[in-house]
Parts: sequence; C-alpha cells; structure tokens
Amino acid sequence: MESIHQTKDNKPFEDLFFHKGPKGIKAYEDVVKQVSTKLIDIYSNVNQPYVGKKSEEIRKEIQGSLHSTKQEESLSDFLEAIDVPILRNSLHVTHEKSVAHLHCPPLLPGIAAEMMISLLNQSMDSWEQSTAATYVEQEMISWLTKRFGLPAEADGVFSSGGSQSNYMGLLLARDSFCEQHWGCNVQEHGLPEGFKKMKILCSEEAHFTVQKSASQLGLGADAVVTVKTDHHHRLSIPHLYEALRVLSDEGSLPFALVGTCGTTDFGSIDPLDELAEVAHSNGLWLHVDAAFGGALILSHTHAYKLNGIQLADSITVDFHKLFYQPISCGAFLVNDRRSFNYTNHHADYLNPESDEAEGIVNLVNKSIVTTRRFDAFKIFASLKIVGTDQFREMIDHTFSLAKRSAHLIDRLELFNVLNVNPELNTIIFRFQPGDVPEDELNTLNHSIQQRLLHEGTAVIAKTKVQKATYLKFTLLNPRTQIQDIHSIVKDIELLGLKELEKRRIIQ
Ligand SMILES: *Cc1c(COP(=O)(O)O)cnc(C)c1O
Repeated sequence: MESIHQTKDNKPFEDLFFHKGPKGIKAYEDVVKQVSTKLIDIYSNVNQPYVGKKSEEIRKEIQGSLHSTKQEESLSDFLEAIDVPILRNSLHVTHEKSVAHLHCPPLLPGIAAEMMISLLNQSMDSWEQSTAATYVEQEMISWLTKRFGLPAEADGVFSSGGSQSNYMGLLLARDSFCEQHWGCNVQEHGLPEGFKKMKILCSEEAHFTVQKSASQLGLGADAVVTVKTDHHHRLSIPHLYEALRVLSDEGSLPFALVGTCGTTDFGSIDPLDELAEVAHSNGLWLHVDAAFGGALILSHTHAYKLNGIQLADSITVDFHKLFYQPISCGAFLVNDRRSFNYTNHHADYLNPESDEAEGIVNLVNKSIVTTRRFDAFKIFASLKIVGTDQFREMIDHTFSLAKRSAHLIDRLELFNVLNVNPELNTIIFRFQPGDVPEDELNTLNHSIQQRLLHEGTAVIAKTKVQKATYLKFTLLNPRTQIQDIHSIVKDIELLGLKELEKRRIIQ
C-alpha cells in the first residue's frame, strides 16, 4: 500500500509544467528560447503586412497542417509545422503599412507583462486567487478615474474590451432606472411589465454594440433611438432634443444616453458637456463610449476634447487600441461605486458577504464574468516602462501624421478626402476620378482595397458613408511615417488607374 508520505522517484509530467525542479526550469527555458527564436525569424522576414493569400487558400493550409501534425510532437516540430500556415499567414500588425482597423501593434512592455500574466495565471474574481493582482488592478482603476476627472466615489473594473464595457454601462443604466422608476429589482425579478417603453439614445454613428447590448439586455435592438449627427459627425444636440420630445409624446421612457468619444470611422467626439447637461436634466444615465478616444487622457494636443467626460455615469476605455496593449485589455468605469450593486452576486465559495465585512476585496463583485485575466498588469507595466511622456509623443505623432496624410491625399487630383482635418487618426477618402459614375466608384474602391490586401503590400479598410464605399486609414502605429502613407497612396492610384483601364477595355 502506498502511503501519502511516500516519494516516488519518477514524478509524472515533469516537463509539461514550470516548477523548481531541473526539468521544469529547462522546459520553461526551452519554451521561451524556441518561441522567441521562431518569432525573430518570422519578424525579420516580414516585408509586408500580409502574405496576400485568399481566405480559401489559408483555410486549406490550416486544415492540411492540422491533419498532418502528429500527436505528441516536440515543440520544435510543432513550431516548424505552424511556421507557414499560422505564423506567416497572420496579419502582421506591427508592420507600418497595416493601417486598416483600430488594431494596434502591441508594446513590448505589454508583451513582457503578458508572459508573466500567463505564467502567474492569477484569476481576478476573488482575492484568494489574485492576492497581489487585485491591488494592481485597483491601483490602475484609481489612476484612470483620477485621469478622467471622476469623483472620489468612482470605481471601475477591467474588461475584455469595449463591447463588454458598453454592455455593462447599459446593464447598470437599465437596472438603476427600473429600480428608480418602478421599484423593480431586475436582478431578482427580471424586467418589469413596462420595459417595452424603455429607450436608449445614441448618435447614428455610435458603435453597433449599443444595439447589440440592448438585444442582450432583453430590451431589443429597437429600444435604441439613433440621433442624427452634424457635419462633424457628432451627435446633434437639436436633434437630440427633438428625439426626446417625440419619445415623450409617444409615452416612451428614455433612460440612457450613449455619447461616443471617438467614433470608429471619423473618430468624432460627441459634445460631451452638452450631453451631460441633457442627461442630467432628463434623468438619463450618461454612458460615454471612449473605447477609441479614451487615450486622449495621455495626449498633449487633444486632451481638451475630453471635457465633460467627468460628468458621465459610466465610461468605456479600451487599452488594446490607442494604448497599444496586446488583445484583450479594456476597462469599465463608474462615477459612483454603488452602481456595482447591480452586478454583485454573493457565492458562498467565492465572495461571501462576510469577506466584505472583513475588508477583503473580491473583484468579481464588479464584473459580469468570473474567471478573469490579470490584464491590468499590461497597462501598468507599459505606463511604468514607457512613461506617460513617451505615450503622449506616440499618440500625438499619430494625430499629426493623420493630419499631414489627409492634406497629402487632399492635394491629389484623383482623390477625395471626407475629413481633411481628422478629429483623431482616421482618414476617410476614396479614389475618385472626375468622370467615373457613382456606382462604378463604389466597386472601384472596393476592388482597390481587396487588391491591396491580396498583394499584401498594405492593409487598409473600407467603409460606407451614406451608402457610398470609401477607403479608410486608421493610423494607430506610431512607427508609421508620412513616406509610408505616400507609398500606399501611390499604390492605390496605380491600382485604380489599372482597374479603370481594364473596365474600359471590357466595355
Ligand atoms: C472598438 C470599439 C468598441 C468595441 O470594443 P472591443 O474592444 O472591440 O470589444 C466599441 N466602441 C467603440 C467606439 C470602438 O471603437
């Protein structure tokens, strides 16, 4: 019979986990060395942001490599097997000409933190599982609430990103309204009878997750009333008043107003001060979606554009966009920590009420998820190592690059730029020779964007503005220079002219 004191000579799974034994240390060193050698090899040979392959080709290569890999292959065999199908076939977001979406190159300090996050594998739900990490997250939240000018009662929690934070803002708004208006506890009893009258207001250019959240919250996407934007793509205050009047006439119950600080396409910022005033005088919860524009707290030239955000009831910030963190990393802030009562649920095994009495902090009380990553560590490490001065320079560089690029494109005869003075760092434009009819311009620009992607020379985005197809640069990368933009624009022009010629020959 084995006794529990008996030690075995042959310990199982020794080289599969990191532990202090020689095999554990060796295995860990091997992982770090082999992976970094592989990545250095890949990145030293990246000449363009994308290999250019079509989706079907990549699907086949992935499936092929999955079927051909053996069970239990060594790490080095594995790295060899995924070299082309996964590593080289990926989008290289660090490349200067990867300028499509709000998809950033990750900062190295964030990557260093990410390595520690995985290894420490703390879980942010209860203090017992994140003994030090809990306080790092709290410190980061307190840094953020101060930077945003929120009051002392403010609080927040890290999230997977903007979608989750917007959902949480509207969840708290919904439950707080139902309590005030009907004395209804939604957490316990579900939505009250009159819920179909509940409405959320936001601009027509707000992020689609406002509608998605409304669906998920049981209100339905049609609970969202979109308000027209002005010439600068900002929510129009006169139209907001008009919408409120209509809602009041029809007996609807508006309860939340979502302001956007940095729309996905134009980077426009709603007049936050005025929104706060309207929200206050109409009893609306003001949620500000600053997933993109929240980084202005670190800007020098643009920080003033955040004026009014301190009056919001809740705020969304994303760190995996303009804060350059590896995905995923976001935060949700509230101006009154009592709002988190609507997400709190006591579980005996995790966050019993007795913990609170003893002053033990269990962050699960503030989140809609339980097991949660120590993502706060990434932005903590980046701020410490990069410093706010360099952050500011990086962010401001992208703003001035956007402005210079917009002027550069605007001066070209065959192009049309919609935002010659970009609010943040996106530029919306198209190849638009004078004699080409509107519907042809749409297919022309669509095919330019696709051709660039499949040549792999530049990855740019396309979007629709009033049903017309436009091209978009999102200039997040602080290493992108005006010469890069110049060269992409030249490629666009060449592709456009070639495409036009092809069409004329066919006709
Ligand atoms: C990116 C973005 C979101 C969604 O955030 P995720 O982090 O992708 O979930 C929401 N709102 C705005 C304005 C965004 O730019």
